[in-house]
Amino acid sequence: MGHRGLMAEKMRALQYTTVGKAPEIVELDRPTPGPGEVLLKITAAGVCHSDEFVMSLPEDVFTTMGWRTPMTLGHEGAGTVAELGQGVTEFSVGDSVAVYGPWGCGVCDYCVVGKEMLCPHAAAMGIQAPGLGAPGAMADYMIVDAARHLVPLGDLDPVASVSLTDAGLTPYHAIKRSLHKLTPGKVAVCIGAGGLGHMAIQILRAISPVTVVALDLSEQKRELAREVGAHHTFMSDASAVEKVRALTNGVGVAAVFDFVGNDITAGMAGQMVAPEAEISLVGVGGGSLAVGFGIGPWDVAVRSPYWGSRPELIEVFELARAGKISVEHEVFALSDGAKAYERLHEGTLRGRAVLVP
Ligand code: NAD
Ligand code: ZN
Repeated sequence: MGHRGLMAEKMRALQYTTVGKAPEIVELDRPTPGPGEVLLKITAAGVCHSDEFVMSLPEDVFTTMGWRTPMTLGHEGAGTVAELGQGVTEFSVGDSVAVYGPWGCGVCDYCVVGKEMLCPHAAAMGIQAPGLGAPGAMADYMIVDAARHLVPLGDLDPVASVSLTDAGLTPYHAIKRSLHKLTPGKVAVCIGAGGLGHMAIQILRAISPVTVVALDLSEQKRELAREVGAHHTFMSDASAVEKVRALTNGVGVAAVFDFVGNDITAGMAGQMVAPEAEISLVGVGGGSLAVGFGIGPWDVAVRSPYWGSRPELIEVFELARAGKISVEHEVFALSDGAKAYERLHEGTLRGRAVLVP
């Protein structure tokens, strides 16, 4: 039928087209990989709370962050290699891969050790993460800018593993930073047992000997937390601080991983830690926690981690391959993407929502 190349092949994409409106399916030309790029036929794309955050921003803030509509969503992506750009030799057509999302310049001192999420040059160079500026994985096809941003999946099921690229990697990175504090007898707290939180619980159980406590507002999420390995769960309210402290004879916990990150949860984190504890504010709830002489226990560190490194993503996939962690997920068709975001907003998802083209 016709002459190939005369008319571009079409594909579907879930795009955020108008600030303040729900994302919608649009038809686009299927992209062609340029030199060094790889075209993936998408097998799965994860739905993250960060997308909802991005889509909740007023237009001026959205624009100041460097984003423009229309924006193809999907920063958790997996696919099979469909076409190799000129010079790409690391992969073959048909390979099953996952996408490392926080793209950096590739050559600075952060990027060369794989910490591309910290690249201080990416923004100025116009480099954006797929789904967060660059066209993302919620489409039939996507372009990956470099082979180094792909991780072979091998036998892992792409639908079950795609969310390891963010919901797995982000808590893994935060936990690895504090791992030296997570010694036998210590207690770690996860605030929020959603997509990231339910993975954090499993990662803590897999790589540390600590007692794991999960806090959530929802009984269903607390139940999920227990099912995936939390030793204790509490309603995330004013009484939680004392209940958590009681588990440590009043001393406080060694680490808090806050997957909500508003002023209330950050404040709770500050009140439940022991001296020398580490607090990671992972959630983008806009909260902060003061550090200074006489504020809280001595020598507490507060940090705001972002995503994770390439080596850490490989480690996360190894944990999954070993059967030590797995993503609870609900599957939606790509065309039902807007519905998946509604369910995320309602807070009724169990684990992660994954879109399948
Ligand atoms: P999610 O919606 O799947 O999970 C959030 C969970 O928090 C839900 O279970 C909800 O019931 C619970 N919750 C809400 N308010 C709470 C409170 N006051 N106390 C305790 N629990 C509460 O979201 P997600 O996709 O897991 O993302 C979690 C957060 O992490 C979001 O803010 C997201 O934007 C952010 N995030 C940050 C990074 C990063 O690199 N820093 C990466 C990915 C996601
Ligand atoms: Zn995310």
